Amino acid sequence: MNTRSNGGYVGRFAPSPTGPLHAGSLVAALASCLDARAHHGTWLVRIEDIDEGRSVPGAAGEILDLLHRLGMESDREVVWQSRRKHLYEAAYDRLAGHVYPCGCNRREIADSRLGFAPDGAAIYPGTCRHGLAPGRSPRSLRLRVPEAGADVITFQDRVAGVVTQRLASESGDFVLKRADGYWAYQLAVVVDDAEQGVTDVVRGADLLDSTPRQIFLQRLLNVPTPRYLHVPVVRNANGEKLSKQTGALAVRPGDEEAAVAALRQSAGFLGLEVGEPGSLEAFWRVAVPAWAALHVS
Ligand code: GLU
Repeated sequence: MNTRSNGGYVGRFAPSPTGPLHAGSLVAALASCLDARAHHGTWLVRIEDIDEGRSVPGAAGEILDLLHRLGMESDREVVWQSRRKHLYEAAYDRLAGHVYPCGCNRREIADSRLGFAPDGAAIYPGTCRHGLAPGRSPRSLRLRVPEAGADVITFQDRVAGVVTQRLASESGDFVLKRADGYWAYQLAVVVDDAEQGVTDVVRGADLLDSTPRQIFLQRLLNVPTPRYLHVPVVRNANGEKLSKQTGALAVRPGDEEAAVAALRQSAGFLGLEVGEPGSLEAFWRVAVPAWAALHVS
């Protein structure tokens, strides 16, 4: 088998519990789990419920149940971001000097017409960079990115190859604590990946453009940068990203046939030749070396 032993490998799947697992998130879950297993590593599940306003009650439990039915079990206790806010607070304290209060609302930022970062966030024009204008009150806390020239982040993605982003023009200063009081995803994910010792991030390509911001934060916090592998995003026939509402997976407890069918579909999307496995055990036996042959040298 084309795998290498790497006792230090730690990977993770980090779903946001905004609805049930759908075919798109299963692809990310499967890819991260296969990569961990192909490296004889540790695979973790982390519930990214830091945005409590978007979390749907019961969704995290459903996601964990479904992963279990598919044969994907976290190797360590599942962690929940909503229960780890002290870690984000502590990291934030270490960033003092790089952060400033911002009084702008979404409309004001969009009106500046600098355009949008690839993830849809409006690029911040720097209005409050040098202090809040008189009469403005702080809404969010923003991280200052370096001036153009010193702002280039480059990394090697295991699928996309070399990725380069200029933070000043392609992201602008970004939010660490949101106007609604929640810590931003960018901060929480960096703190968690570092605290959990994650060596390899395998996730959907919709997060490729967030990676440079995360690497910038890792450098400021003086924590290691993991390796990254971004898998293609599953889209429906109209080219739209699947949503949690449209593509929920129905795999009833004990229905191994449905579990294997869901996994086979995701494996096919990942370009893996798995044949027609008759059981979960058979699926995993074939899928791990198939993944290793493509992605592990
Ligand atoms: N929680 C994110 C999502 O569900 C994934 C974050 C990550 O993998 O870094 O889209």
